Amino acid sequence: MPAPHFIIKNKFQKRRERYEDILTRDILRDVCERLTGRRDYTVTFDNTGYNIGRLATLTYNGAVSYVSFSEYEIGSRNSFFQSFPSALVKYHQETNPNKSIHFYFLQPDGNIETAYFKFMYRLMKTAGTNFLNEGDHLTTAIQPFNSVSDVIAQRDLNRGRNRGNVSSYVTIDENNTLQIYGKTYGANKYETVLLCLAIHKITRYSMELYEIQEGDLRKLPADARDVIVSLGIHVITSDLVLEKREFEANDSLRSPTYIYNLLEKLGEKKCLLCDCEIPQIIQGAHIWPVASIKKANNLSIETKIQHATAGDNGLWLCNNHHKLFDINMLYITHDGRLKYKNGIEQAHGAYLRSFIRNNRLPHEILTPAFIGYLHKRNRLLNEGEYDDVEID
Ligand SMILES: [Zn+2]
Repeated sequence: MPAPHFIIKNKFQKRRERYEDILTRDILRDVCERLTGRRDYTVTFDNTGYNIGRLATLTYNGAVSYVSFSEYEIGSRNSFFQSFPSALVKYHQETNPNKSIHFYFLQPDGNIETAYFKFMYRLMKTAGTNFLNEGDHLTTAIQPFNSVSDVIAQRDLNRGRNRGNVSSYVTIDENNTLQIYGKTYGANKYETVLLCLAIHKITRYSMELYEIQEGDLRKLPADARDVIVSLGIHVITSDLVLEKREFEANDSLRSPTYIYNLLEKLGEKKCLLCDCEIPQIIQGAHIWPVASIKKANNLSIETKIQHATAGDNGLWLCNNHHKLFDINMLYITHDGRLKYKNGIEQAHGAYLRSFIRNNRLPHEILTPAFIGYLHKRNRLLNEGEYDDVEID
């Protein structure tokens, strides 16, 4: 049988790196032996095409193995992983059904076992990646994620107080559609692609990917997008045209930008009043209602959409609390205390009080912009008509 054959892609010559210096004979022999059991190989250097990551393919006995190599320099946390998603996309495009995808650690310079790195390894493994030499470089074995809630929980753990670092979110809407909201420019796109391909392996829900616009850059690279679409994931690009249509069509506003901004400000879906975390029944509730924004004078349509989609103009509320808030049976004071309408039937009042766990919004939600929206809402209401909600 002919010897295993490597094709090495041209990224290794960027920044004057010479692939012969990085992928030494020893390394290639090691990779070859781990994949085929043989130590002899042939190699071609492929200088055609565009930058597709630190990728080599190894063909042997009718099978093709895609091998992505780690960066030497760890740099920012996303630069360490930036080559892998392109390799994963190429692997998905491979037409040989006898294919596999692998990751190989080159001797790294620095800590490659931070919480974020481990999270990314687990996503890679979930997406079907085989780590060829993790035992040589990591102290604990990489476990794939078993479920989407597993992914979200681990994500939240990493995120801690540092929400600003996160560029993509995973949630489920009222129709049991799993939604990924991702920024799609710069380093953020790598995480978005990897999340999609990993979650696709473990979810039984249908999936949507929302590409969140920022500036002019709002679409994933075409090949990554094509692979995501080919898996049956519905890709929706959030832009002003879509937002305008949503804004004009309905008052509850199922706007992707709004959901994204709420996720960014408030974190995962969770009713702020009763702590319900079932995402299918959690909604973004406007403080300054969309219907009132539409009626506002002297505002351009763009400004109105900005108000309607602002993260500061909303709360996560469960269906019940959203409805009660919308009909003004619940009231939020300017310092974030919850009140309920007096003069309603006693049994109704008792019921209302029975499923409120928090009678005060968390302090960090009460930004000046949020309080500004409360003023706009509350000036049409009379605080005297509301009683405090006592909690045992
Ligand atoms: Zn609730």
